[in-house]
Amino acid sequence: ATPMSVMVGVGRGAKEGVLVKDAQALETLEKVDTVVVDKTGTLTEGKPRVVDVAIEDGSDEEELLGLAAAVEGSSEHPLARAIVDGAKERGVATKSAEHFQSTTGGGVSAEVATRTVRVGKLAFLAEQGIAPSDQLKSAADSAQSEGRTVVFVAADDRLLGFLSIADPVKNSSAETIRRLHERGLRVVMLTGDSEATAESVARELGIDEVHAGVSPKEKHEFVKQLRKDGRVVAMAGDGINDAPALAAADVGIAMGTGSDVAIESADVTLLGGDLQGVLKAVALSRATMRNIR
Ligand code: ADP
Ligand code: MG
Repeated sequence: ATPMSVMVGVGRGAKEGVLVKDAQALETLEKVDTVVVDKTGTLTEGKPRVVDVAIEDGSDEEELLGLAAAVEGSSEHPLARAIVDGAKERGVATKSAEHFQSTTGGGVSAEVATRTVRVGKLAFLAEQGIAPSDQLKSAADSAQSEGRTVVFVAADDRLLGFLSIADPVKNSSAETIRRLHERGLRVVMLTGDSEATAESVARELGIDEVHAGVSPKEKHEFVKQLRKDGRVVAMAGDGINDAPALAAADVGIAMGTGSDVAIESADVTLLGGDLQGVLKAVALSRATMRNIR
């Protein structure tokens, strides 16, 4: 049976926007020593915007944007919305696409007119033998080192260029990380984004442990491994790609602003998607368990 004070704790959490689905989670949270956080939509606003378009010699900016938007029109990914909106804002007409395919954590492809268009990270395009010029590669590296997410666009076997996408960190992220550290918790960032982008965001937030380029499956494996190593793990995430890791954690914490799949996989949901809720949840758990003893 759930002790009365745990029920009271669950109620108190709800008032503060920390929805505890599983009362057991409130007891486990006290013992958490490692907090794993996803980057996009968890540490960042999750409202990405296209801020720049870079092209290979002989390519055309508008064409690149139009083709990318045509493919992303069928994707649910936050980056997809940014690209569709980016095309609209710049008055670029979007053609229709057929045979849409999505590779989670990699990118998307479709047929636009007679061309096969691929949009995604470099590794995703490299699978088709598509690579950037040295010049474009170094432009991409420099955008990533400023924390931008770079999305490459190719038509048939030719790379057209990339979109530089900005997603600012949430106001509360740095403070939350600092206070988690103060409480003696280890903080680890996991992201499907590139190493350079991840490092830049981590530096801004004072996170010293980062694993980039990880697939949803690898996020899940990583959390499982931490638990095998004896850590008690809370995982905070917002995306479909975080769902397996949320389910594998001792306590899964979903951003209320995130996908339904993430929320369903988690034990705790933070209304408003404010990362400070992680601190509130830990504090609530410590107070509740103190009450019981
Ligand atoms: P995160 O862990 O940061 O939430 P994801 O696992 O969803 O990221 O995606 C990892 C990377 O795969 C993205 O940074 C992007 O480069 C690429 N990607 C995934 N889906 C798409 C898409 N629909 N359009 C373009 N790129 C995508
Ligand atoms: Mg995310």
